[in-house]
Amino acid sequence: MDKQTLSFQAEVKQILHLVTHSLYSNKEIFLRELVSNASDACDKLRFEALNHPALLEDQPNLDVRVAFDAEAKTITITDNGIGLSQEEAIANLGTIAKSGTREFMSALEGDQKKDAQLIGQFGVGFYSGFIVADRITVESRRAGLPPEDGVRWSSQGSGDFEVETITRPARGTTVTLHLRDGEEEFLNGWKLKSIIGKYSDHISLPILMQKEEWDAEASKQVTKDEWAPVNKAAALWTRSKNDITPEQYTEFYKQISYDTEAPLAYTHNRVEGRSEYTQLLYVPAKAPFDLWNRDKRGGVKLYVKRVFIMDDAEALMPVYLRFVKGVIDSADLPLNVSRELLQESRDVKAIREGSTKRVLGMLEGLADSEDVAEKAKYAAFWKDFGVVLKEGVGEDHANQERLVKLLRFASTHADEGVSFTDYVARMKEGQEAVYYITADSLAAAKSSPQLEIFRKKGIEVLLLTDRVDEWMLSHLYEFDGKPLQSVAKGSVDLGKLQDEAEKKQAEEAATAFKPVLDRLKETLKDRAKDVRVTTRLVDSPACLVVEEGDMSGHLARLLKQAGQSAPKSLPTLEVNAEHALVKRLDSSAHFDDLANILFDQALLAEGGQLDDPAAYVRRVNALLVA
Ligand code: ADP
Ligand code: MG
Repeated sequence: MDKQTLSFQAEVKQILHLVTHSLYSNKEIFLRELVSNASDACDKLRFEALNHPALLEDQPNLDVRVAFDAEAKTITITDNGIGLSQEEAIANLGTIAKSGTREFMSALEGDQKKDAQLIGQFGVGFYSGFIVADRITVESRRAGLPPEDGVRWSSQGSGDFEVETITRPARGTTVTLHLRDGEEEFLNGWKLKSIIGKYSDHISLPILMQKEEWDAEASKQVTKDEWAPVNKAAALWTRSKNDITPEQYTEFYKQISYDTEAPLAYTHNRVEGRSEYTQLLYVPAKAPFDLWNRDKRGGVKLYVKRVFIMDDAEALMPVYLRFVKGVIDSADLPLNVSRELLQESRDVKAIREGSTKRVLGMLEGLADSEDVAEKAKYAAFWKDFGVVLKEGVGEDHANQERLVKLLRFASTHADEGVSFTDYVARMKEGQEAVYYITADSLAAAKSSPQLEIFRKKGIEVLLLTDRVDEWMLSHLYEFDGKPLQSVAKGSVDLGKLQDEAEKKQAEEAATAFKPVLDRLKETLKDRAKDVRVTTRLVDSPACLVVEEGDMSGHLARLLKQAGQSAPKSLPTLEVNAEHALVKRLDSSAHFDDLANILFDQALLAEGGQLDDPAAYVRRVNALLVA
């Protein structure tokens, strides 16, 4: 083929124009793109060679070589991968091949400034070389073709490109960038190495550069004809699980997380299907100091085909799993994918769903393990990360059922580690609901008067004391078909747990007590929505409850502390007609004081604050001296 000049496809011209005229701030990415192409070319050859080993010729070791020539002002990137035939060079380097580029084109609006930003968001692949070069020459020979069938492609990145046949004994491709004036900073071994280290360290193929030596006589650096790898080629996640020791997994975790401790658990999988990716995810042993911060980005690094794309890609993990560290390496995403694009990508959605399931599976593995040490690990995990996992109950409806099984609580039965499953297994015969109480602290929860009847009957009650609990409960109504029932809400209905005699007794007490009740209602009408006799108390004279659907006193207090206004709804006062203090009401000369004291004490007992503490003191004293 004689030298011919061909015109770029119209869309390519637009891209080239943008690349050369609205340079973006991140020039150095050209090297990432070209090294990535070289690495892809080696992957392709390796793959084709599986069926056609002859393609490897006498060069089975694949590598990428990066060199520069300060005098000629060139940078070359050479690979011994699949190479390009003449037709391929014309098609692949002259028309739009990348889906990302296509999206980029459709997002163009003609507004220069905006377009310049867009280039940064979408991958422009090969053409990004024109950011720093005013001419690019590609010389290549496709694997399997004779040396005479080589091709030289060359362009100044404007309207057209030239192609001609050359003889090239070496298989693969050499891309030569002729740097623009002013881009000399890239003619520096140290600079190039650091860019490769930043973006391409985990490419599993060796990236080689020539060693340099100080020549005292000429008083300058001279390159030696000795090539050495500049990347670690440590893409651990691309290796087979069987070839990786636990120590290696731990070492890698420490590297990426800057944690000094070994991780609690990890999961490593290659996922194939609609979306193809590899995940290596870790759960740390200890919570970071800023775990509570929901704005903190996640700890998962995104790679595309082993090329580093970004740190902390929060779109890859739900917010409630923000403590997970690791790597996700996608085979489908465009190389220059932006955070904005990540949020919308369907591939990313599939990755997030898949990774979420894996993390939950890893946690279930610990939680349900027969092994004592593994189970202890879950307890440790829960202590540090439980609060965050609870956010998931409200946020991730698709996985709610699994998350709920991972929850652990304190209860009247045990101070920690109680799961819903444990609870249900211990439910009394005839018990239909899962009972719980929310409070500011474990101590306050434990001494809640509302628990008395449950204690007496040996019914377990979950004690919820995390701030997030109330919120979580607004998204969770039942477990395993059993409704979750606050013991501080509504009138207590123990249903089948109460025998007939008890029910009858309660009704009789209520009737006999009616006149006192009416007086109480009248006296406390500004403080209590209702006053009624209850069977939920054993030792205490009174307690406050809220009606089903009203906000609990605990939640109202949390909101107030957070500076938010809580809707004002009065609580209901429930009194224990069997209590000596309540019995004294009827004949007391200080009925009003006693009624208000009952109310105030009920409020104090549930951790509330008195509006008028001095009035309370005055009333108590009046009774003490009476
Ligand atoms: P992408 O890598 O996403 O396909 P690029 O713009 O980076 O897009 O590259 C365009 C095409 O050029 C590649 O798909 C490939 O066919 C070809 N190409 C680029 N560099 C090389 C190379 N070093 N060896 C072989 N083919 C290459
Ligand atoms: Mg590319």
